[in-house]
Amino acid sequence: MAVAVEISLAEAASGVKREVEYEAVSACEPCEGTGAAAGTSRETCDVCKGSGQVRTVSRTAFGQFMRTGICRRCKGEGSVVETPCEECGGRGAVMANRKMEVDIPAGIDDGQSIRLSGRGGRGDRGGPAGDLYIQVAVAEDENLVRDGDDLVYHQKLTIVEAAIGTTVMVPTLDGEQEVEIKPGTQFGEVVRLKGKGMPQLRGRGRGDLRIIMDIVVPRHLNGEQKEMLREFARTTSEKNYHSDEGIFDKIRAAFS
Ligand SMILES: [Zn+2]
Ligand SMILES: [Zn+2]
Repeated sequence: MAVAVEISLAEAASGVKREVEYEAVSACEPCEGTGAAAGTSRETCDVCKGSGQVRTVSRTAFGQFMRTGICRRCKGEGSVVETPCEECGGRGAVMANRKMEVDIPAGIDDGQSIRLSGRGGRGDRGGPAGDLYIQVAVAEDENLVRDGDDLVYHQKLTIVEAAIGTTVMVPTLDGEQEVEIKPGTQFGEVVRLKGKGMPQLRGRGRGDLRIIMDIVVPRHLNGEQKEMLREFARTTSEKNYHSDEGIFDKIRAAFS
């Protein structure tokens, strides 16, 4: 059986304890799972004499055949309830609410589940209990997108900020962090904050936070602004746009 749990990205990074509540087939308390009313107990089945099996002999033209089958009276249990427990009607099991605290490990990803063996419903005829699966959903973060062990953040920059450089505050899992934007930053450039990504689920390493630069071109310029940009354009030359690595190579690198 399974229980769904939703956690935040920050909780997925740090690991978190969550109380889960679920209904599972559990041993009936008044009869302690026997199915027999208080003061009585299960009695040995008089059909199979407690073995749970019956032998039937059939005679055919080819001879005599012996067949072993499950006792119908006790359904193979070897014992029967003469006076059924009122709580469970003699089944020995009831649906009961359970609560438990689950440790969700750091680094867990959306859609993964945790198996808790023996925490599921009670098995038939006193058989072993089934497993409980905690299905973990990691809610989308408003700023950070997960990519494996890395986190990705898109930083918007104006063309002015990208050209002359600035410092920006970038959201990380440990709060905001100041990041320097160097002059001449191009669209699609990536700044990596080492070790600021997600922890590995079964390791000690941690991914990076990749900050991808989105350069926003201003819209709705008035006449004066357009004139200033034309004036600016007249002062620039090929040299201002020169790069060792062409801008299109960088864009291609960012998308590859
Ligand atoms: Zn029987
Ligand atoms: Zn009972």
